[in-house]
Amino acid sequence: MIYLDNAATTKMYKEVVDSMIPYCMDYYGNPSELYDYASSSRAAVNKARRELAKLINADIDEIYFTSGGTEADNWALIGIAEQHITKGKHIITSRIEHHAILNTCRYLESRGYEITYIDVDSDGLIDMEMLKKSIRKDTVLVSVMLANNEIGTIQDIDSISEIAHSYGALFHTDAVQAFAHIPIDVKRSGIDLLSASAHKCHGPKGSGFLYIKNGVKIASFQHGGKQEKNKRAGTENVPAIVGFGEAARITFEKENNNIKRIKELQNIFIQRISNEIDLVRFNGSLNERIPGNISVSFAYLDGEAIQIQLDLHGICCSTGSACNAGEKKRSHVIEAINVPEEYAYGTLRFTFNDDNTTDEIDQTVNILVEVVNKLRKMSRTFTLS
Ligand SMILES: *Cc1c(COP(=O)(O)O)cnc(C)c1O
Repeated sequence: MIYLDNAATTKMYKEVVDSMIPYCMDYYGNPSELYDYASSSRAAVNKARRELAKLINADIDEIYFTSGGTEADNWALIGIAEQHITKGKHIITSRIEHHAILNTCRYLESRGYEITYIDVDSDGLIDMEMLKKSIRKDTVLVSVMLANNEIGTIQDIDSISEIAHSYGALFHTDAVQAFAHIPIDVKRSGIDLLSASAHKCHGPKGSGFLYIKNGVKIASFQHGGKQEKNKRAGTENVPAIVGFGEAARITFEKENNNIKRIKELQNIFIQRISNEIDLVRFNGSLNERIPGNISVSFAYLDGEAIQIQLDLHGICCSTGSACNAGEKKRSHVIEAINVPEEYAYGTLRFTFNDDNTTDEIDQTVNILVEVVNKLRKMSRTFTLS
């Protein structure tokens, strides 16, 4: 098996699993209990909180654990919308957000909120002029993702947050694809809220956090006990939180050390495909992008057909975001960057990590060349014009 779908989820590092086991077996106390035995669980949660905060230059008490990236995104949008309703009911986001954002926006629209979806250019970068024209006195929140999950594009969030703040709006970023992979500084970038998820950086699934800048008022999303400073109820998932802290720390170190190698793999992949396959295009900015994320479109082919053929050879890749699988549609991101019709449906995403080898990349391209040629021969719609 060759796993090239690290944007969908990642393998947990052995060190991560090892760090979690004691909190299942030896220290399973409820962190909210006051007896001495529970203090180990409490200390472990706070150690993870400190490590995660450090990675984004936040303060320890600005990290709120959630059940993952989706909950963090829902909480940021709904919590801010409800809390700041006296300022207004207008929210700005982009057309290329993850469905955790877009479908939450649809929900808010159904509750009477107004959402503006900012366009992106052909590289997938936010149209700053449209943003400046769209923002208003009654805009409560601007939410733009840091790195896109389908095409890897990294946004200029420093400028976006500045525009938001100039109108007294808050700035949220979905950093699920970026967190622990690239440096983030919430203070320098003027971030008020940030979503992260453990399973996108070699941690356990079902664990994430929302960073909420001290002083930012937000309504609770999940009601119950007094956990997370009375803001997010529910007994903490202690083993997963411990694993998240460990995973983020290791991922950041490893990828920092291996960034040259990951970029090298990426270049080999792009170079070989460009040289050996006709009518291909690579999507997203080539400069402003997350390392190891490649979105490539093959003209006159169906991405799913290629994916199935690669699967028969044990290669895992994606036709875009995992949430789109099964839908006979081009992705909203591919549509937003105006990929020409003949290319749009033949889009695949390959995402590497630091464990992938040159040999795996070479094998994948060899099979891809074979599969694309075969499918094009079979395809009646393919015309060499
Ligand atoms: C995966 C992902 C999410 C959802 O995170 P989960 O932890 O899987 O709920 C949100 N946003 C982006 C950009 C993602 O890639």
